[in-house]
Formats: sequence, structure tokens, C-alpha cells
Amino acid sequence: MEANEKDILRGGQFLVKETNCEDVFTPEDFSEEQTMMKESVMEFNDREIIPHKARFEAKDYALTEEVMRKAGDMGFLSVAVPEAFGGMGMGFVSTVLTCDYISSGTGSFSTAFGAHTGIGTMPITLYGTEEQKQKYVPKLASGEWFGAYCLTEPGAGSDANSGKTTAELSADGKSYKINGQKMWISNAGFCSVMIVFARIEDDKNITGFIVEYDGENPNGITLGEEEHKLGIRASSTRQVFFNDTVVPIENMLAGRGEGFKIAMNALNVGRIKLAAACLDSQRRILSTAVNYANERKQFKTPISDFGAIKVKLAEMATNAYAGESATYRAAKNIEDRIAMREAAGNTHQEAELKGVEEYAIECSILKVAVSEDVQHAADEGIQIFGGMGGFSEETPMESAWRDARIARIYEGTNEINRMLSVGMLVKKAMKGHVDLLGPAQKVQEELMGIPSFDTPDFSELFSEEKVMINKLKKTFLMVAGGAVQKFGPDLDKHQQLLIAAADILIEIYMAESAILRTEKNAKRFGAESQSVQIAMSKLYLYHAVDIIEEKGKESIISFAEGDEQRMMLMGLKRFTKYQNYPDIVDLRNEIAEKVKAENKYCF
Ligand SMILES: Cc1cc2nc3c(=O)[nH]c(=O)nc-3n(C[C@H](O)[C@H](O)[C@H](O)COP(=O)(O)OP(=O)(O)OC[C@H]3O[C@@H](n4cnc5c(N)ncnc54)[C@H](O)[C@@H]3O)c2cc1C
Repeated sequence: MEANEKDILRGGQFLVKETNCEDVFTPEDFSEEQTMMKESVMEFNDREIIPHKARFEAKDYALTEEVMRKAGDMGFLSVAVPEAFGGMGMGFVSTVLTCDYISSGTGSFSTAFGAHTGIGTMPITLYGTEEQKQKYVPKLASGEWFGAYCLTEPGAGSDANSGKTTAELSADGKSYKINGQKMWISNAGFCSVMIVFARIEDDKNITGFIVEYDGENPNGITLGEEEHKLGIRASSTRQVFFNDTVVPIENMLAGRGEGFKIAMNALNVGRIKLAAACLDSQRRILSTAVNYANERKQFKTPISDFGAIKVKLAEMATNAYAGESATYRAAKNIEDRIAMREAAGNTHQEAELKGVEEYAIECSILKVAVSEDVQHAADEGIQIFGGMGGFSEETPMESAWRDARIARIYEGTNEINRMLSVGMLVKKAMKGHVDLLGPAQKVQEELMGIPSFDTPDFSELFSEEKVMINKLKKTFLMVAGGAVQKFGPDLDKHQQLLIAAADILIEIYMAESAILRTEKNAKRFGAESQSVQIAMSKLYLYHAVDIIEEKGKESIISFAEGDEQRMMLMGLKRFTKYQNYPDIVDLRNEIAEKVKAENKYCF
């Protein structure tokens, strides 16, 4: 079916519109081409990365570079690059699945890969002129050159637009001279192209430049020593100093003062890819953990037989499943939106830019949720391995935990992404792109009305869960709507509220995605075949409801008072109440038994 405006939800609209399960894309929908790509990437990971884990851990930066070149030879660096510039021009889903399946060997390679293909290359493919693209993109796509992205400075991290690096136009008007210091630059040690952000005169916004780097002829560029990091040890991270670095004016990216926009849009793409890059790690962590738990005996019993361990296995599997469901759902939305814009006459470049921008809310949601899930998985993985897990570098859990930690910090910290997700949603509502006001008013009316005492028929698969999701959406509208009414444009000063609202938003998206995926698969493959997936969807939702209740309560009692507070708290109770509570222990047991029997993540 051709994608058209009518059946593609806009970014953020998931909150106010019901999605049919047939309209979501799931990993089970991978085309033959996508499946081949996935298998080829997995095979590469198994052959080139995983067996060399010890060398990556020993900070063998040369190995990272060598494997990056091999990834280039395989075409993996060019998946997202249009054919006109030497790329494979595959769709957004393929881009995301490449990031997913190449990432579980080590965070070192995953970071190098992500920094190069995402923030190191995308600013040129998305914003470059034809000449810039012709000159740089084919070399970046093939792996002849590697890219780095120089935004962060010692004084400018989350406040990325406050950088002090300057770009000064030469007297003859032919070049800019860049001066300044960048920090935490991934791939700095082996890159040939840097996307550098600098300020021209007293401009409000920074400007992006493409800067070539050649160690033999450094043009005023010097690199700091490799940083000694907690994790991702063979990912090259250095400071970069620019001292009168001359950059021809034709290397300015987009226009003067457009850098902040470029930086933010590059990060949007980076965020969903980073979420994907945390997925296969979760699968692998679970597979390794269950493998160990099946082997390890205490009290003459495999530890996987203990309920305490089953909880962990079940929760790890469930989070990985929800993460996959939400990531591929959003990836296909982006792909369809790009196709729709191209069909309407946009160039591929414009279409891609707008397509990703449209789903910036979902990209932030995914970045936060999946980066926290992988950390949690690694933490539980360590626990399952006991002393061997946390204190022996011989086992994979210790490095998985250290590698996972960075995902909560880069591509915008999780605090910043939480606040952004809600902030962007409110902005979209104000622009009329998502109608939050109408649905929020309806919730208000419902709160004042008398609740229905009918007993609905919940015999159909997920009928109660779908009602719950609907009620959770009402909770968000009630809480966020109330906060917007109370604080108006000052809402962004109330960060604790924003963060609580973001947590509600995140849980809704993740839980709904898992349910829709399972429902779609149950319809086409039969509910019996999806019994464990049904259990995982129910388990995820159960936790989501709990989190939402807690965050909703915390918000309501902080901003509402008196009758309003009482009414909202009653609403919250109604919106988070199951008619039939699921038996969580049964659900977890069913999931854990399946994972144990298969001895791996198997969904
Ligand atoms: C290993 C590694 C690789 C990296 N690679 C790159 C790269 O390739 N290119 C690049 O440009 N950068 C890179 N970064 C930088 C990374 O993007 C920043 O570290 C990140 O944006 C956070 O900035 P910061 O470290 O200055 O922390 P800060 O901004 O100082 O934040 C510190 C804490 O304060 C919180 N905080 C900050 N502002 C606010 C606010 N307004 N409201 C509430 N809380 C706030 C943050 O959430 C965080 O918890 C990398 C970093 C690391 C560690």
C-alpha cells in the first residue's frame, strides 16, 4: 500500500489517535532484502567484532579503525546514503536495523559506527550542497574517510548553542578561520572529516562547517590524548583544538547561523539509531545470562529455576521486546513520511530532513527508554552472574554494563531528552500539528461526569489492555493539560513536572507499541503462537500503569490544590485501574520458561 498522509500518524499523534495494529510495522514485517541485510550484519558482528572483544577492551583503537574499514567494504556505512553519492540508498528501516545488529559486540565499535554514519555523515547528506555531497559523501560512505562531529566544548555540553569556538571571515572573503576547543569528540583519532560548529561574530546561533583533517598537514588542528573512559574503551574520544584553522567558505553547511538547527536535526536521527544500537546488546545480554543461569547450579539446582532469577529473565526479555516494537514502529513511520514527501515533490534530502524532524518526539522517547533498558539489562546480567558478573573482566556482563552507561549521556542526556519530548509535543499542539486541546477538554468533561458502571466485555485479546492504554493517554492529557493551564509558557521552568510527564509519555508509547506488535502478529500467525509475546505485552503494560500512576500522582499533588486536586486524583485512580488485574507471577513464569527452554532471547 502506498503511504499517504491520511494513514500516517504525525509525530506525537499516537497520544490522541488510536492506531490500528495493521498500521504498525514490526520486526516480523522485515522484507527479504531487510532480512538479508540483518543476517549479513549479524554475521559481520559475529566474525569481526565479538571474537576480538578483548582487544577492544584493551583500547586497541587501530582495531576499531580496521573493522570500520571492513564495515565500509561490506557497504554497511552506506546503507542510508543515496545511490547518487555511492550509497545503497536503502530505506530508514534498513538504516535502523544495521545500527541494531552491528552494535552488540562492543560499545566501542557501536559508538564509532554510530558517530560516523549518523552525526559524522548525516549533516552533509541532509544539509550539504550538491558539490559538498559529491566531494565528501562517497568517501564517507565507502569508509575511505571517517567522520566526526565537533559540537561539545568544555563550557558547552547540553547548552550546545553556547559554544565559544569562533569562525572569522578572511579579508578576501574566501575562507573562515576557526579557533576554539572541542571536547569528547568520538572518532577524532582516525577521522578525515569533521563537522565543526562555530560562531561567526556575535551571531545568536552557531554555524556548521565541514573541516578536513589530515594529520600530516594539520591546518592548525591538534588532538588531545585519548580519554580514559569507564566504557566504550576502544572508541576514540579526544579533545580537538582549532588554531587558525582555515576553511574555505564553500565548506559552510547550510547558511550562516543554521548550525544549531543542523546540530539538533542530526541528533534527532542519532537518537533513534542510538536506541536501535541498544537493542541487540539487550538481546545478547539476556542470551548470555540465561545461558549461564541454565548452567550454574547452586543448592543442586540450576539458578534459572529460582523464581528470583526468573523475574530478571522475564523482565529483561520484556523490555527488549518492547524496545524492538517501538523502535521499528517509529522507524517505519519515518520511512513512510519520507516516501510521502518525496511523492509530493520534495527532494530526497528535504524529505528525509522533514521526515525525521516530524518524529523527533518519538526519537527522544526511544533514546531514553531503550538506553535505560540496556543499562538495566546489563545490571541484572551482572546479578545473574553473581561475583563472576561484576568483578571479573572475563565475563561479558562487566563490559556490557560499562559500555551501556554512555548511552544515557550522549546524543542529549536523558534529562534533556525527557524535557524535549514533552516540550516538543506542547509546541506541536500550539502550532496545530497535534490537537491536544480538544482531547484534553474531553478528559476534563469526563472527570466532571459520572463514571460508567457498565461491565465491559473483555474477552477479546487485548481488549482490556487497549482500554487501559486509552486511559493512560487520558492521564497524560489530564496531567500535562493541567500543568500547561497552570503554568502556561513558564512550564519549562517546572522541570520536575516535565520529567514526570515525559515518563508518562514514554511508558504509553512503549507499552502501546508492544501491544500493537503482538496484536498484529496474533491476528496473522494465530494467538497461540504469540502466547509469550502476549504475556510480555501484558507485563510491560502492568509496569507502565504503575509508573504512570506514581508520576501522575506526584505531578497532581504538586501543581493542583483543593477540589481540583481531589478531582484529578480520582481521575487518576479511575484511569489506572484494571478491571481484571493480570497475574504478574504467572506472566513472568511463562516468559522465563520460554527463554530458559530456548536458552536465548527468542522473539
Ligand atoms: C564518550 C563520549 C563521547 C561523546 N561523543 C561526542 C561527539 O562525538 N561529539 C560531540 O559533539 N559530543 C560528544 N559527546 C558529548 C556529549 O554529547 C555531552 O557529554 C552531553 O551532551 C552532555 O554534556 P556535558 O557532558 O557537558 O554535561 P552537562 O551539560 O554539563 O550536564 C551535566 C548534567 O546536568 C544536566 N543538565 C544540563 N543542563 C540541564 C538543564 N537545562 N536542565 C536540567 N538538567 C540539565 C544533564 O542532564 C546532566 O545530568 C560525547 C561524550 C562522551 C562522554
